[in-house]
Amino acid sequence: MNLEIAGKWALVCGASKGLGFGCAKALVDNGVNVVINARRAEVLQAAASELTVLADAAAKRDGFGAATVIAVACDITTVEGREAVFTAAGGPGKDFDIVVTNAGGPPPGDFREWERDAWIKAIDANMLTPIELIKATIDGMAARGFGRIVNITSSAVKAPIDILGLSNGARSGLTGFVAGVARSSIAAKGVTINNILPGKFATDRLEGTMKAAASKSGKDMDAIREAQQAVVPARRFGHPDEFGALCAFLCSQQAGYITGQNMLIDGGMYSGTF
Ligand code: NAD
Repeated sequence: MNLEIAGKWALVCGASKGLGFGCAKALVDNGVNVVINARRAEVLQAAASELTVLADAAAKRDGFGAATVIAVACDITTVEGREAVFTAAGGPGKDFDIVVTNAGGPPPGDFREWERDAWIKAIDANMLTPIELIKATIDGMAARGFGRIVNITSSAVKAPIDILGLSNGARSGLTGFVAGVARSSIAAKGVTINNILPGKFATDRLEGTMKAAASKSGKDMDAIREAQQAVVPARRFGHPDEFGALCAFLCSQQAGYITGQNMLIDGGMYSGTF
């Protein structure tokens, strides 16, 4: 399917690896120019090089111009970081057609031990940063008559996990905000906002949480992996490319009638009917 977004400009946050990188790959594969962001310059540059190779191959395959890839190493949860992506040299300023919001998730723990600072950090990263990115780009999108915003949240928004209280709280705040804005006047101007809720995906983050579980329980990694996969009806973890494909579709012309939705992608792990 031709997603009809070749030549558009996307900002993809937290894109040096994992789910953000999966989204950047799928967009570049569809001819979309990307500004990618992450904190560590070296890792981000390696991702940018990989995306450029992909962009050239896609252009040859599909006959559109090769997508441009611009890497901006910064912390997207800071004011300076957001300014940096908006003023990226040769980049489109705030004229992004597509924005994929993403940053690392907050640490697990017992809510009794979290002071105000821990909450502010989580809310900043997983609620206020996406809101700032939406605020900076949405009116431009509406004026141009096309916009796609995709927020990477978590299946924990629908099925909260006790030790992920910071994530449950901050991301639920974002979800409520998005539900309102998606249905505001921008909806009639070609702008959609949706959230994708990942279940268990094979990324460094999941690897990190499994290592922590292994050291806490004294079990080996294979046993932990097996146990984690056993709770997924698909009996495996998701691949970031599968996540990226859904993201690219939500950014397509064809997805213009999908807005304000929370889409689970979890191999069937959430067991409710709705
Ligand atoms: P990951 O650790 O593999 O990758 C995170 C990416 O974001 C990296 O590129 C990292 O450099 C970047 N990043 C982190 N903080 C940043 C910041 N402040 N500024 C700029 N870049 C930053 O993680 P992932 O598995 O791809 O997860 C992405 C998001 O999805 C996280 O918020 C995570 O909590 C959430 N999530 C992941 C899973 C999963 O199974 N992988 C499940 C539910 C939710």
